[in-house]
Amino acid sequence: MNILILDDSFAARESVKRSLQNLGAKTYFTEAESVDRALMYCSSTQFDVILLDYGFSPHDGVEFLLELQKNGMSNHNAILMMSEVEDDEIAMRCIEAGAHDFLFKKDITESRLRRTIFQASKRFELENELRKSFQQVKKLAERDPLTDLANRYLFEESFKIALANNKRNDSYLSLMVFDIDDFKLINDNFGHFTGDQLLVKLSNRISSCLRGNELFARLGGDEFAIVLTNQDEIHNSTNIAKRIANVLQLPFTVDRHEIKVTISVGIAIACNCVTTPEELLKQADIAMYRSKRRGRGKISFFEDEMQQSVEQRLRMETGLVRAIREGEFVMFY
Ligand code: GH3
Ligand code: MG
Repeated sequence: MNILILDDSFAARESVKRSLQNLGAKTYFTEAESVDRALMYCSSTQFDVILLDYGFSPHDGVEFLLELQKNGMSNHNAILMMSEVEDDEIAMRCIEAGAHDFLFKKDITESRLRRTIFQASKRFELENELRKSFQQVKKLAERDPLTDLANRYLFEESFKIALANNKRNDSYLSLMVFDIDDFKLINDNFGHFTGDQLLVKLSNRISSCLRGNELFARLGGDEFAIVLTNQDEIHNSTNIAKRIANVLQLPFTVDRHEIKVTISVGIAIACNCVTTPEELLKQADIAMYRSKRRGRGKISFFEDEMQQSVEQRLRMETGLVRAIREGEFVMFY
C-alpha cells in the first residue's frame, strides 16, 4: 500500500507512521512537509491513501485538496484529513473539498485507520462506477451513435449557448445546415448498411476539414449542422462550405462501391434582429431547400425574400386546402 503523509510536523508524521507500522511489509510511506511537495509527488504517483493534516501554515489541507481537484489529480483511493481540533464545521469543509473522511488525531489507532481506509477505498470504487455510468448515459443522451457527432439534443443546447455568447461580442456566428442529395437512391442502390457506412465516412471527412472547435452535429437522417463562431469575416462560412464541397469531390469507397456524394447547403448568419436559435435554424433550413430547388449540390445564403416567398407559398397552400374543403372552386366550361 502506497501512503502519502502530508504534515508540516516531523513528530506528527512519525506518530502516524508508528500507528500504522503493523499494516504489513508492503506498506510504503512517502512524506511531505509542504503542499507544493505533496502536489509534486501526486503528479507522478497514484497513492492508495493520502493522510493529510488540516491545519498547517502557510497553506491548509483544504487548499491542497482544491489544488488536487483543479489539476485533475484527485484520483487517489482514500483521502483522509486529520485534525487536532474537533470541529464539525471544519470536518464538513474538508469533506466538501474532496476528503473521504475526517479523523481527530487523538482517535488515530491502527484499527480505526484500517477501517477508514477500507471504507474510503470502497466509496472511491463506487464513485468511480457511478462516474462511468453517468458518462455512458451522457454519451447516449448527447451523441449520435452512428457517427459519434453531437445529436440534435446536444446541438440545440450548445447552439443556444453559442448564440447567447455571440450577442456579447462583435464577431459573426453562422449556422450551416446541409442535407445529402438523393440519399434515398444510395440506400436503394447499395443497401441501408452501406448508406450507414457512407454517413460515417462523410462525417469523418467533413470533420477533418474543420478546425475542431466548431459544433458539428447530425440533426437526423442525412441532415447535418455546423455552427461557426467568432467569425471576423462574413465570407468565412462560404469558404468553409466550399472547402467541404471540395473534400466531397472525391468519391467514397464503401464495400468496394465507389459512391459520389453531393450536398445542398443553407447558411444563415446571426445578426441582431434574429433572437432565437429556432429562428436561425429555420432560416438555414429555408436556404438549404433553396439549394435543393436550384438543382442540388449548391450553397445558398438565407435572404429575407426567401422567407417572404416561403411564407407566401405556405399561405397559398393552406388557402388552397381550405378552398377545396369549403367548395370554393367553381368549374367553368
Ligand atoms: P434530397 O436530395 O431531397 O435530400 O433526397 P433524399 O433522397 O436525400 O431524401 P431525404 O433527404 O428527404 O431523406 C433522407 C433519407 O435518408 C430518408 C431515409 O431513407 C434515409 N435515412 C435516414 N436515416 C438514415 C440512417 O440512419 N441510415 C441510412 N442508411 N439511411 C437513413
Ligand atoms: Mg437528403
